[in-house]
Amino acid sequence: MTSIDDQAYATAFPHVANPADAMSEPAPFSILDRPAQYLKGVGPKRAQALERLGVRSARDLLFHVPRRYEDASTVAPIGTLEVGMDATAIGAVVSSGVIPTRSGLRIFQAVLRDGTGMIECSWPGQPYLERTIRKGDRLLVTGPVRFFHGRQIQPREFVVLGREDDLSDDAGMVLPIYAATEGLSQRMLRSILDANLDRLVEDVEAEEVFRPDYLRQRGLPGLRDALDLLHRPPTVQKAEAGRRRLAYDELFFLQLLHARTRHELTERQGTTFRRSNELLRAAHETLPFALTDAQTQAIREIFSDMTSPRRMNRMLQGDVGSGKTVVALFAALLAAENGYQTALMAPTEILAEQHARTLRELTAPLPVDVALLTGRLSKRERSDVLGSIATGTAQIIVGTHALIQEGVEFRRLGLVVVDEQHRFGVRQRKALAEQGIAPDVLAMSATPIPRSLALTLYGELDLSTLDEMPPGRQPIRTALREESARSAVYGFIREQVAAGRQAYIVYPLVSESDKVDLRAATEEFERLAGEVFAELRVGLIHGQLSGEDKDRVMRAFLAGDLDVLVATTVIEVGIDVPNAAVMVIEHAERFGLSQLHQLRGRVGRGADRSYCVLIASGGAEARERLRVMEETEDGFAIARADLRLRGMGELFGAKQHGLPEFRFFDAERDEALLVQARQDARAVIEADPGLSRPEHERFRQVLTDRYGERQRLYETG
Ligand code: ADP
Ligand code: MG
Repeated sequence: MTSIDDQAYATAFPHVANPADAMSEPAPFSILDRPAQYLKGVGPKRAQALERLGVRSARDLLFHVPRRYEDASTVAPIGTLEVGMDATAIGAVVSSGVIPTRSGLRIFQAVLRDGTGMIECSWPGQPYLERTIRKGDRLLVTGPVRFFHGRQIQPREFVVLGREDDLSDDAGMVLPIYAATEGLSQRMLRSILDANLDRLVEDVEAEEVFRPDYLRQRGLPGLRDALDLLHRPPTVQKAEAGRRRLAYDELFFLQLLHARTRHELTERQGTTFRRSNELLRAAHETLPFALTDAQTQAIREIFSDMTSPRRMNRMLQGDVGSGKTVVALFAALLAAENGYQTALMAPTEILAEQHARTLRELTAPLPVDVALLTGRLSKRERSDVLGSIATGTAQIIVGTHALIQEGVEFRRLGLVVVDEQHRFGVRQRKALAEQGIAPDVLAMSATPIPRSLALTLYGELDLSTLDEMPPGRQPIRTALREESARSAVYGFIREQVAAGRQAYIVYPLVSESDKVDLRAATEEFERLAGEVFAELRVGLIHGQLSGEDKDRVMRAFLAGDLDVLVATTVIEVGIDVPNAAVMVIEHAERFGLSQLHQLRGRVGRGADRSYCVLIASGGAEARERLRVMEETEDGFAIARADLRLRGMGELFGAKQHGLPEFRFFDAERDEALLVQARQDARAVIEADPGLSRPEHERFRQVLTDRYGERQRLYETG
């Protein structure tokens, strides 16, 4: 049986239809490469419709898997259906017929019955269904329940499951729901797939890249079975098994790319640090607080990297205030015990100064020298600091990226800590390596993201997470307000300022270069500064200001010379202004939850109670989403909610990072699968970094097909 319309194909592609001709011309060797138009039951018109679904080739059609399924498990007894529900029901057709209406519309109607009751189903404008749905058929319908002379379903979907008395066959009990389009209904898609699937899955078998025993060990079906299961699953669980297989495939190859980067970064041996505990014990004794369990665990993970000969290549993520700096300090002390220096790099000078201050406080009782290198030093100071770095008296050196970019000469650099620079890495590390230095690297991020997403984006890094806050933090009181409450909000700001505190007012900018939005923010600033808060000191900061100007405004706010700071989202993630107690976010509905959480994290750092006011317009849905902010301050919980609501691509600039669009991977459900894929990919690269062994030939091909010559997901910024 050929399910392909070979005759039509031969007419359209005479040069490849005959195998003898294919010798000279590289021919599509598989049916999967042929245009979908030549599949059985397609033709030019349906091919056009398929194209609107992104389906061009037969392969595309095979991978056009259902969006979801309906089955008996989602079926409600007919007696329980209520008006307003969106329901799926199964019953026997007890009567049917076409009813004309006065307007000329002809309606097909059928009455369904199960053990609990009866309901009318109605298909306006589809009289032809008379030929498809007959008395005695077992029918599955899904659609809204309405009131029309009684309860009635208007099915969006239906499937004839069989005859009433035919209960043996439950193979048809699952109804796949495809993405359909005008001119190509669900039913057409189903029938096209029915006619071609056997042949398509037969050909896809040749594209299997994993051995059967490899898949069996991981509980995954083969590619052929996976696609078969997705299109005609005996149960919804079986379809899920098919999806997992394809998700594994997506994850494995991305992790292969990450593993190669990781190999490159860790190939050169790092320093094998040893614990003498001279400094570390003293630090433990003098620390003014006990470490949280999460900090202890992160330090353990970091030490395990540092005491191994392999270079550390780790990301430490945790909310603002979760105590990352303290963890970094312990890593720096281990380096110092071994006679090595640590460079801690921050994205801005203000943040570098802040880190230096924290580290100096914490190390005050210890024989450790913390140096700060910024552009604000006088010539004289600078040359002193450079001297202490070169001789090694400075053990922890804090600065911006200029620290390593300007070729500062270290006596013995053993550890680099990078704050808020997720993509620090490859280029900078190469620059260091060229100086003959291969330090261990610890990247820190205050953007909590779900573990599954972190492993996807930063798969070349190992991950430590601070998912616990030090005790005794004051909660930030968060409230959602409407436009109508604006003057009350302004009144509240005035009160807080009168009590000696400071406030942020943040405006959303689609992008920092958006002129219209920027004008809106600037005009709003003028209104606030000139009218609303005429008696207060109001400043403005946005992305179009020069670095110097931004720095000046931020310092003024930090010093308490401004009461209110009107800002776009440029205000630094890590900035710590303990006296700032109010964060007002305008048009909160335009921000993602994670972004709101980041903004809110700029307050709540001092001893006073802090407040976050979200001013939002928009419908009930937008408000419902923002409620999450009122309910929790847990950045990871918020990130998970955000992920569920917006999907991975939209989050955290995942697309900008070059993250591919996943069709099968589900970040919420597939964390274990992801960990497995990462472990598998790393094992392959460890054993065969160049993928040059014959058994890895296919991996190399697929990797190149998907990611081209790209060496890593993103290039460093
Ligand atoms: P992050 O860098 O993650 O934003 P920091 O390391 O700057 O957090 O810590 C925030 C504040 O909490 C600092 O003042 C720090 O001294 C304090 N801190 C850190 N760890 C603890 C802890 N385990 N118990 C109490 N306070 C802590
Ligand atoms: Mg910090």
